[in-house]
Amino acid sequence: MKLKGKRAIVTGGIRGIGKAILMDLVKNGCDVVFTYIITPYSDENTARELENEIMQQGVRAFSILADATSLADAEKTANFALEKLGGIDILVNNAGITKDNLLLRMTEEDFDKVINVNLKSVFNYTKAVVRPMMNQRYGKIINIASVVGLIGNPGQANYVASKAGVIGFTKATAKEFASRNINVNAVAPGFISTEMTSALNDKQKDAILSVVPIKRMGTAEDIAGVVSFLASPEADYITGQVISVDGGMAM
Ligand code: NAP
Repeated sequence: MKLKGKRAIVTGGIRGIGKAILMDLVKNGCDVVFTYIITPYSDENTARELENEIMQQGVRAFSILADATSLADAEKTANFALEKLGGIDILVNNAGITKDNLLLRMTEEDFDKVINVNLKSVFNYTKAVVRPMMNQRYGKIINIASVVGLIGNPGQANYVASKAGVIGFTKATAKEFASRNINVNAVAPGFISTEMTSALNDKQKDAILSVVPIKRMGTAEDIAGVVSFLASPEADYITGQVISVDGGMAM
């Protein structure tokens, strides 16, 4: 229970890596606010069910409908967390999408959409939580980047640019906030089994696994444990870092 009494916001907490992060924070005693949008995978009912599942574990959980691309929604979420939980100690910027295509075929709309969901969201939520974190002289911000933000990937110029941007943003804000006892780090997952990667065909998966020294795709739980560590006092002297959790892809 290394996070007992801490209060966290997780963007996109209903499924995939975000849900695993949420559940690991909860397992460690954290109270949580998580965001969702309406998709075929998530709606108000799914959010309420997850709230109930979490509250049975003896912590507080609240969901909020909030689009990560909107600064106003991020501010609404931060105010909601302050009201419901009494403070914000941890922010996990997890929401993300892909819209893959070779650059020659990539539309401006798909470029903008990916940058907005993956990178602007990190600006939105960081901006929304940083003042209360500064006032309390404590905060842990963990941004979910990607291995491809470090090494590039053909067919993902929009996604790679967004994740490389997240890494730069992590380092800049780590330097800005360090004197206020706010740590900012990024986790760079490799290829993780979630909805996002289920669209890959067997040939694409084999090609990916050929460059993964640990010869398997990762699980969402592989990411979640590292996020909880970075959110914990054990990581107080770590800031501005990118922790790769990728089976050895980038080294
Ligand atoms: P996923 O299963 O597709 O889940 C994406 C999450 O993002 C969902 O929770 C979704 O919310 C949320 N989201 C999407 N658009 C949003 C928006 N406009 N506003 C708020 N939330 C939004 O993907 P995942 O694999 O868990 O990915 C989670 C993070 O890990 C992403 O940042 C992704 O780039 C990163 N990552 C994943 C992999 C991988 O191999 N899977 C590798 C590297 C990095 P709803 O559930 O409400 O739709």
